[in-house]
Amino acid sequence: MPNSATQTPPASQSNAKINASQRIPVVQIATPSAKIHVREQKGVFQRLRQHSNTLLIALFFLLPFINYQGRQAILFDVTEQQFFFFNLTLWPQDFTVLAWFFMAAAFALFFVTVYWGRVWCGFLCPQTAWTFIYMWIEANIEGNHHHRAALDKAPWSISKLRKRLTKHALWIVFALLTGCGFISYFMPARELYMDIFTASSGFWTGAWVWFFAICTYLNAGWMREMMCLHCCPYSRFQAVMFDANTKTVSYDAARGESRGPRKRAQKTELGDCVDCNLCVDVCPTGIDIRNGLQYECINCGACVDACNQTMEKFGYAPNLISFTSENALKSQPQASVFSLKGLGYASALLIMISLIIIDLSQLSHIQLNVIRDRQTLYREVGVDRVENSYQLKIRNKTQQAAVYQIAVRSNKTPSLTIVTDTVVQINPGEQLDYPVTVSGRRSERVDDTSQQTLQFSVTQINSVANSTPVEPENQVTQQSRFFWP
Ligand code: SF4
Ligand code: SF4
Repeated sequence: MPNSATQTPPASQSNAKINASQRIPVVQIATPSAKIHVREQKGVFQRLRQHSNTLLIALFFLLPFINYQGRQAILFDVTEQQFFFFNLTLWPQDFTVLAWFFMAAAFALFFVTVYWGRVWCGFLCPQTAWTFIYMWIEANIEGNHHHRAALDKAPWSISKLRKRLTKHALWIVFALLTGCGFISYFMPARELYMDIFTASSGFWTGAWVWFFAICTYLNAGWMREMMCLHCCPYSRFQAVMFDANTKTVSYDAARGESRGPRKRAQKTELGDCVDCNLCVDVCPTGIDIRNGLQYECINCGACVDACNQTMEKFGYAPNLISFTSENALKSQPQASVFSLKGLGYASALLIMISLIIIDLSQLSHIQLNVIRDRQTLYREVGVDRVENSYQLKIRNKTQQAAVYQIAVRSNKTPSLTIVTDTVVQINPGEQLDYPVTVSGRRSERVDDTSQQTLQFSVTQINSVANSTPVEPENQVTQQSRFFWP
């Protein structure tokens, strides 16, 4: 049964043999308005897609359950403003690493697109993965695409009501699991699932889970290809990354036209396309790939599998529709592996990776903020000493308790010393507000200025009893001012 979104090929294409060089590069096809009942398809690319989607979904749900050193290994702790990734802890001031990471991911996507088109959309995009899961649930309850189309048209009955209720109930359960899966990257996963499914979560936790559950239900259950066609910005601009060497799902018009039905083994002057329409029936976005490259195509490869199945039945060579490039279709030599666009994106990707490495290597595990006592500039003690007070805010940014040695240094006044205790212990992730008094000998004041620079340092040491710095050295410094009378 033809898909409701079937496109009629242009007369010029259907009636005459088309020269490969006359292929339409990109065409805009009217968006299908009726519901698409996608025909199930088996084949190499569908197996590949199922495996990649299964891996993606399994990782999505399981990653939050991995524990590392007694805590969830991957967690965006919004309340504590920390991002845990195994033994790495990022604080808001370290989030440039995340910015580089997302930019690197974007350039990696662009780089892949130059060579392999929208392979991301077809095989790794969560929208595709969740849509296919929802379609799989639907097919198991309502039957194949013929049965589903018939059920749509059928009047309401007990059977139709039962099927629809079962389908939507399963969709909602999977949406709720997805909502939990997503929020479990922001809250401890084990407690979250338990709280949601026993209805004992707090209001905001429940509200966020249900918000993402409703988005998933609407997205994968109802909107499906509409998200790709109307909401996804990538589908709109991915064509600018394409060139004549980009491998993308393409129909070999020179070989397939003019198309037309025939009997198996029948001798004919027609091209290899038998006009079975399978490539349209299996398309999740409802397009006809024979009309040329279209932005709606998510490169899922379903039409490749469908057409290869037909080619095999008719004894024709496979790959009338295939992942291929425009140059390959025109039998022209592929350009150099490293195209200008590819090199540009690869360079940008390398720069981003370098920035991530530099940022991570410079990441400090201690945060220090020195605040001078603004009430009292200095205190005179005895005949020869002057004291200044400071508040040190020291944060242990690691996931283990640590011991720190506080020191002060001034090139001009070697006698500046801290008179309070200089060894402190701080629990993981905690900030210590520590008052410090620095004392200097008045006789060492080097000139007539009323203030001088001094430098505080905080160094992680092995223990309270062993003041040797840990290896590699973990130290932060910050300058402040010392005031004289
Ligand atoms: S045209 Fe083919 S590859 Fe593109 S979305 Fe449709 S079925 Fe998938
Ligand atoms: S599946 Fe192949 S043979 Fe059938 S209509 Fe599509 S291109 Fe033609």
